Amino acid sequence: MKVEGRRESSNIRDNRGGVSKKAAAAGGGGVAVIALLIYFLTGQNVAPQLAQQQAQPQQCAGAECQLDAQAADSNTKGYAYQTGEFKNEGELKKFVSVILASTEDVWHQVFKTNSLQYHEPSLTLFSDAVDTGCGHADYNAGPFYCSADKSVYIDLNFLADMTKTLGAGGDFAYAYVIAHEVGHHVQNELGYLVKYGSQEQMLRKSGKETEANLISVQTELQADCFAGVWAYHEGKKYKSISDADIEKGIKAAAAVGDDKLGVKRRENFGHGSSQMRMKWLKRGLTSGDINRCDTRQYTLDQLQNI
Ligand SMILES: [Zn+2]
Repeated sequence: MKVEGRRESSNIRDNRGGVSKKAAAAGGGGVAVIALLIYFLTGQNVAPQLAQQQAQPQQCAGAECQLDAQAADSNTKGYAYQTGEFKNEGELKKFVSVILASTEDVWHQVFKTNSLQYHEPSLTLFSDAVDTGCGHADYNAGPFYCSADKSVYIDLNFLADMTKTLGAGGDFAYAYVIAHEVGHHVQNELGYLVKYGSQEQMLRKSGKETEANLISVQTELQADCFAGVWAYHEGKKYKSISDADIEKGIKAAAAVGDDKLGVKRRENFGHGSSQMRMKWLKRGLTSGDINRCDTRQYTLDQLQNI
């Protein structure tokens, strides 16, 4: 991607070094609310962990902290710097900031076109672990969006390690990850996120897991489609995206499909299969039109075969 000399966002919050390894002590918010408000790129198994932590707030102490630290250290961090894709974390941070700024420009424009006003999210960088308005999370959760504080959370090492851990890296792959999480913010801005989350939660409470999972897939694929809409306008405005870049993004979308993440049974899908994720990213990318991202009107089969 060509991003040299471009505007950086002023909405980056740098929380690296402010590591908090304690489990969320906030409590009181309620497990259901927490599960509703946090949306991950890959972390379909993380919500239960968050819920557990919320139910039993605890402080990190002694051996437990050491175990946490060992787990973090056992990850080989910073793969993209080792391979020379980015010289160092500072360069990757700058890239993230330029992409966030681009999402701001694009979404202001798209909202304006639809007679709406866009409010920018923040993007919080953290290293290893972070406490958020939605609870505690760590590196393993992957990037996520918390609607309670309207912030995207990213551990730069997760991006830098994507080539190694997911087999999908490169600048546009990282941009896709950011744009997907910003896509959840766009859903929040449009009033969809809380609505979808409430419906999903109610279905789960009544034991209707298949129906609840369909809503989860529809929500995730819409965020992928919104990421594509961003890429369409980014490419048009800056002539910054090549076909090779798009391949990187599509590969990343495929890499975070449920089938690649070990979710075997189709009705258990929470994010959509690799094929679905690629399709909906492309649907946004080729049209640049948010109205083409209405995943809610389709069944699981239609989402797959559209
Ligand atoms: Zn997501």
